[in-house]
Amino acid sequence: MRVFCVESMIEEFEALTKNAGQIQRETLQKILQQNGDAEYLRNFGLGGRTDPESYKACIPLATHSDLEPYIQRIIDGDTSPILTGKPITSVSLSSGTTQGKRKYLPFNDELVESTMQIYRTSYAFRNREYPIGNGKALQFIYGSKQVKTKGGLIATTATTNVYSSEQFKRTMKDIQSQCSSPDEVIFGPDFQQSLYCHLLCGLIHSVEVQFIFSTFAHSIVHAFRTFEQVWEEICTDIREGVLSSRITVPSIRAAVSKLLVPNPSLADSIYNKCVKLSNWYGVIPELWPNAKYVYGIMTGSMEPYLKKLRHYAGNLPLMSADYGSSEGWIGANVNPSLPPELATFAVLPNIGYFEFIPLEKPEGQELENSPSSIHYMEAEPIGLTEVEVGNEYEIIITNFAGLYRYRLGDVVRVTGFNNSTPELQFICRRSLMLSINIDKNTEKDLQLAVEEASKLLAEEKTEVVDFTSHVDTSTDPGHYVIFWELSGDTMEDILSSCCNCLDLSFADAGYVSSRRVGAIGPVELRIVRNGTFEKILDHYLGLGAALSQFKTPRCVGLSNSKVLQILCRNVTRCYFSTAYSA
Ligand code: AMP
Repeated sequence: MRVFCVESMIEEFEALTKNAGQIQRETLQKILQQNGDAEYLRNFGLGGRTDPESYKACIPLATHSDLEPYIQRIIDGDTSPILTGKPITSVSLSSGTTQGKRKYLPFNDELVESTMQIYRTSYAFRNREYPIGNGKALQFIYGSKQVKTKGGLIATTATTNVYSSEQFKRTMKDIQSQCSSPDEVIFGPDFQQSLYCHLLCGLIHSVEVQFIFSTFAHSIVHAFRTFEQVWEEICTDIREGVLSSRITVPSIRAAVSKLLVPNPSLADSIYNKCVKLSNWYGVIPELWPNAKYVYGIMTGSMEPYLKKLRHYAGNLPLMSADYGSSEGWIGANVNPSLPPELATFAVLPNIGYFEFIPLEKPEGQELENSPSSIHYMEAEPIGLTEVEVGNEYEIIITNFAGLYRYRLGDVVRVTGFNNSTPELQFICRRSLMLSINIDKNTEKDLQLAVEEASKLLAEEKTEVVDFTSHVDTSTDPGHYVIFWELSGDTMEDILSSCCNCLDLSFADAGYVSSRRVGAIGPVELRIVRNGTFEKILDHYLGLGAALSQFKTPRCVGLSNSKVLQILCRNVTRCYFSTAYSA
């Protein structure tokens, strides 16, 4: 039965991807038939047509702000067919940690269905290489606050919408990964308490746990950093069979207490293993001996956490999860044995209609190692099967929940084809982050600069726990400020060198020339106190963001004054680059 399920899923994937072009036409037709009455489509004069040519001719490319007035009416309670034929009954709130602002997005059953299709597809491929039996998974997943909109709709994060659906529970049973924690822990109102209980429940079921999961890798790293602090308390709970008094939420206490019986031998075994570990290297396989892999999104803005994740995972393989957003899923990782740095995503042609804006670097801008996508020139969007290997594109989504030719803002590279559907590598978000005048640096540029500079810390056995940036134009000339939280003490001269290295690593021509002529001031590296990024996380969670979808904002503007305040109040040392001063 299980084998049949996996094989049939792979067959389904094969059938879909062999006819990707045809399936895309059919998918667009289905979306436009279902929603032909929607005001948005009528306004642009589509007139019930469902072919790609008419669609592209009538409907313009859109950004979130173009759709905002329509979405606003939906959340205010207008149930007429605005974006979709059937009224939208729930909305997702994007994490807002990448762009600073939380976005409302329509959500419906079709989006849950496509999420399940993605999960089942990548599971089938994973299971072929790393088969798992019946058991559990230690999943660091968290529901987030639900808010009721003025019109009475429930708004919450897309992951919470998915986790609370019946389809999710059914699919999780199919793919043999029931969460080792009860629902009360996942949906608890206090994420610190939920995290403690995830760890505790995972240890109670340590023999049955087959893999470790979180939506984004950051949550796993965060969980094990916390484990380093609370492991002895967890051992005491298991030894005595009594839940720590730190768990005060009645629903969580009741649900977890039911699972807890005094188990001194398990407590001793955990204790002995932990004390023997060297700096927590390999803690995951040590405590979960039957886990086959660690699973979660590890690409894009999660890459900076890979080093720490590998440290905790020891010899266990890391497998990068699929590619999607609150706007909808895009592709599944069907090559699970590739290391996360090389992970690709095969687009499922029936979950949405996809177009790609070709991005080309203008002559003379082919800077090696500079992924500054903002240098790109745009061409006309092309279809899913027209993309070319090696080229970069911005993705446009048309989904089943009322987004039409929606610019997602992500840049991807086509690495190959799986049958006739492209496999994509995530490159970066398109939005410009660091810019003072003609300089243009993205999140990826910053990540590479930090990666390069942090190599200088290796000898000191110190790591960058987390980082972000800010453009300071209060000085004349303006300059980039990079904030680092470090895992330990580091010598002054090393940090000065790191600061110079950061400055020199921003390789885009606009930055380099501006630095040379003094139109941009020296990079400033500010070291912040231990726990600063935890405070930033708390701040976002307080605003209703979900830990499951949290991504550290890599650039903090003046409009994000609270986060900037947290950073600035915690600065312990700062350094200015001397790289261009000779
Ligand atoms: P949100 O809707 O707020 O959870 O954020 C969605 C965004 O997260 C996407 O647009 C991407 O920029 C990023 N993202 C999602 N999945 C991946 C992935 N597998 N690799 C890299 N970035 C991803």
